[in-house]
Amino acid sequence: MDMIADFDLTAHNTFGLKSTADRAVLIDDAAMLPELAKASAETGRPLKILGGGSNVVLAERLDAIVAIMRIAGRSVNQQTTDATIVTAGAGENWHDFVVWTVDQGIAGLENLAGIPGTVGAAPIQNIGAYGAQLSDFFQSLTAYDLKTGTIETFDAEACRFAYRQSAFKSEPGRYVILTVTLALPRTWKAKRDYAGLDRLPEDATARAVLDHVVALRASKLPDWRVLGNAGSFFHNPVVSAEAARAFEDAPQYPQVDGTVKLSAGWLIEQSGLKGFRLGPAGTYDRHALVLVNHGGATARDIAALATHIRDKVRIRYGVDLVQEPIVL
Ligand SMILES: Cc1cc2nc3c(=O)[nH]c(=O)nc-3n(C[C@H](O)[C@H](O)[C@H](O)COP(=O)(O)OP(=O)(O)OC[C@H]3O[C@@H](n4cnc5c(N)ncnc54)[C@H](O)[C@@H]3O)c2cc1C
Repeated sequence: MDMIADFDLTAHNTFGLKSTADRAVLIDDAAMLPELAKASAETGRPLKILGGGSNVVLAERLDAIVAIMRIAGRSVNQQTTDATIVTAGAGENWHDFVVWTVDQGIAGLENLAGIPGTVGAAPIQNIGAYGAQLSDFFQSLTAYDLKTGTIETFDAEACRFAYRQSAFKSEPGRYVILTVTLALPRTWKAKRDYAGLDRLPEDATARAVLDHVVALRASKLPDWRVLGNAGSFFHNPVVSAEAARAFEDAPQYPQVDGTVKLSAGWLIEQSGLKGFRLGPAGTYDRHALVLVNHGGATARDIAALATHIRDKVRIRYGVDLVQEPIVL
């Protein structure tokens, strides 16, 4: 197996943070995993999986074996009376996979178009956007268990999906997701009940929704190829209905369980931190929830900025913001 020493990961994370891995390897076959697990045990270096690097803060030096996920493959498996069942390898690009389904006349994933990263990482935080989330379509996944050396199948219940959460987040580093299988409903109607999508006609095609979502995203988020970022940096806080009364002026999104979701971006902006800069890191001047790398930033710069933001928001609003990207 070809392991590369002192591998530069700067181009492998959308933040563009300077980072070097002790060892790195491209993983395109699940059969490589037992050997990688052995190398990890023998050298004492943890095995860390990297997909598209769009939801991570990479340390400047990663004393680890970093396996960059490249397992490919996508297929339509089956048509049931209700759904079309599709499977993709963990290393497939998520957006390309969405486009592939829509191009074949299989609708459902269009609201999730344009999310960077790989298929295999999508279940980790139950990716979501524009009124849809992965768990709406999830059927099962296969994952290699680094603890037992076996390949396990997880159904939706075993994944314990919630808002930007899954079982995989509570046991980080244990499972390597290999394939993801989704059930896309055969009876379909454009999902337009989200701000910005209501402008689409009622009979909009899945392709039209996809194009519209991609355009909306481009108008709101900086292109990470131009201005390094990891998308939304903090979760939107969820508070009790009673606590939400203290936020009269804030946008509020009541949830089905009676709690209220607040906008982390609004809290940061109202704390005077939109477009704020601390060294080479800052908040995006058009969207305070997005932290950006103005050039040459490291994980330390991002951590210092994140701490500053959390402190300001806690002092002003008494809300503890929770970071979304995972520190590897
Ligand atoms: C501009 C921008 C916009 C974004 N918009 C959204 C959005 O709208 N909605 C949303 O939910 N997210 C969004 N994100 C976050 C990100 O795109 C998603 O979380 C995505 O699923 C991360 O995929 P990745 O392959 O880049 O994962 P990485 O960043 O490489 O990894 C993330 C975590 O998953 C683990 N991991 C990755 N692959 C595997 C695997 N195969 N098996 C086990 N563990 C694995 C890694 O170890 C790490 O802990 C955005 C990010 C950016 C940069």
